[in-house]
Amino acid sequence: MTGRPDAECGTCALCAGSTSRGSATIPFVIEERVITIRAIPAEICGDCGEAYMTSNVADAVQQLVERLRALEAEVSVARFRAA
Ligand SMILES: [Zn+2]
Repeated sequence: MTGRPDAECGTCALCAGSTSRGSATIPFVIEERVITIRAIPAEICGDCGEAYMTSNVADAVQQLVERLRALEAEVSVARFRAA
């Protein structure tokens, strides 16, 4: 895996807790629709739960959300996969 978190590695920008590598489930609410992406690789804060994605992952998540948005389902759940 290449790239590293945009945030300073290992420390939460919100609460200064320590982060560790894991996977996150993040709901996106767009125009009264809910699109949930599971298994997003991220650094996750052990204290407040904030997830930090690399910019590559964030871009791929954004593309996935856009594709699901086009389906016009009210609720979508998808598993993250790299583009
Ligand atoms: Zn935190």
